[in-house]
Amino acid sequence: MLVKNLCHRLIASALVAGMFVAPIFGANVAVAQDAKQETVVIAHRGASGYLPEHTLAAKALAYGMRADYIEQDVVLSKDGVPVILHDIHLDTTTDVATKFPGRKREDGRYYAIDFTLDEIKSLTVTERFKADSGKQVYENRFPMEFGIFKVPTLEEEIKLIQGLNRSTGRDVGIYPEIKNPEFHRAEGQDIAKAVVSVLEKWGYNNPASNAFLQCFDWAETKRIRTELNYQGKLVQLLGENRWGAPEGTDYDFLKSDEGVLEMAKVVDGIGPWLPQVIEGLSENGTAIMTPTLIAAQRAQLMVHPYTLRADQLPKWAGDMDIALKAIFDDAGIDGIFTDFPDQAVEYLARNPDA
Ligand code: CA
Repeated sequence: MLVKNLCHRLIASALVAGMFVAPIFGANVAVAQDAKQETVVIAHRGASGYLPEHTLAAKALAYGMRADYIEQDVVLSKDGVPVILHDIHLDTTTDVATKFPGRKREDGRYYAIDFTLDEIKSLTVTERFKADSGKQVYENRFPMEFGIFKVPTLEEEIKLIQGLNRSTGRDVGIYPEIKNPEFHRAEGQDIAKAVVSVLEKWGYNNPASNAFLQCFDWAETKRIRTELNYQGKLVQLLGENRWGAPEGTDYDFLKSDEGVLEMAKVVDGIGPWLPQVIEGLSENGTAIMTPTLIAAQRAQLMVHPYTLRADQLPKWAGDMDIALKAIFDDAGIDGIFTDFPDQAVEYLARNPDA
């Protein structure tokens, strides 16, 4: 913990002294940037609390808010191009139902994999809305009637982040997630192979690369490491079996001490659902850590839970600071996926001992 505390102090001084010091004391800032890897803020779908998820605008804003990593959820188009969408469906973040009314499947949904990249590019992306009512999910976020965005490809987003890294001199990482490999395979496509190939092309295929590759499908995570020989940092996401686990994935097992040790043989970190690592607060107001969290820390796995939202806080947290204190200061968690990266970055700057 001493090292960690020192790191945070360095980050805080770098943030306070900040950009003014950088040109003169370059070495100090470099130290702080290295140290910052200890505790990271991951912009969940970009700065999605402020702009529609997975738009380049939301990613640029997250970059400007000084997130350490920016997340990309990846699915494939009909012509096999990795595009940035949270769902395999297009109908709760785009106007696909208006533009292509005849293209839904029998279940009433529109699937990205049924549309070519050109067709997907013709769509307008908006703030997420509910399929049944058409109402936006988070009502106080960006107005869904302002449709001024497009679906980016994975390569376009990498260009945005690498371009900003060049123009700012910073080193912000990417955090792609391979979505539903089982579904893609049933459609005749190998999404993991397609994504790994893009990551290789852009220099993200070694342990030092500033990237984490994540997947909910445990069998696929192992395949990415072995068969696809991916050398970069890997994160196993954890869900609950009751949500419908992919074949070959048993989250109850993965959450156990034995499961954690199995994961540690393959991955660098885990991405649990926040309630899987913090149960709530004790009477004295400190975080109650779960056995899974304790096992993961003992196994020296990085722990990056999802998702902290200022407009949908955990029941036990009255505000963002209470949640962030529990996560970083009490539980010693390494990073957080959040829709509000600015608030987590500011918290870490204000609380150098976290
Ligand atoms: Ca994700």
